[in-house]
Amino acid sequence: MKKDDCIFCKLANGEIPTNTIYEDDDFRVFLDAAPATKGHCLIVPKEHFDNLEQLDDAVGAKVFPLARKMMKLLKEKLHWDGFNVVQNNGELAGQTVFHFHTHLIPRYEGDGQNFNMKSTSPAEGELAGVLNEIVS
Ligand code: 5GP
Ligand code: ZN
Repeated sequence: MKKDDCIFCKLANGEIPTNTIYEDDDFRVFLDAAPATKGHCLIVPKEHFDNLEQLDDAVGAKVFPLARKMMKLLKEKLHWDGFNVVQNNGELAGQTVFHFHTHLIPRYEGDGQNFNMKSTSPAEGELAGVLNEIVS
């Protein structure tokens, strides 16, 4: 299903032109308009899902195989030194377009980007408490 007022529905389905590097029945992969690095692109399903929570399992199962395929293509053509796969859900987590998508971000020596998370030092027993909350 497509959503009428969704920009990524229009981009993924070719209603608005994109810099497409790959397309099949389920997905379009196109260059991000404001790239973090050279070759930064987005895997976008043609069907509308707001986020990962809502994503259909059959569509979701195809995302990582496609990411690997695009990684190989980008390695061959752009010779990246590292690679980040980023997927944001919810405004707090940095999602700005509310149609599920996966960022493919080739990394290069000295590219000035940093996607490292900030580690913390949990207090004694804290992890056990969290585990208990999740699995009990
Ligand atoms: P998010 O922050 O939701 O994870 O990522 C949204 C991404 O979509 C951003 O990196 C942004 O640059 C990209 N973007 C937003 N609008 C457009 C557009 O119209 N065309 C393209 N190619 N990328 C877009
Ligand atoms: Zn959409």
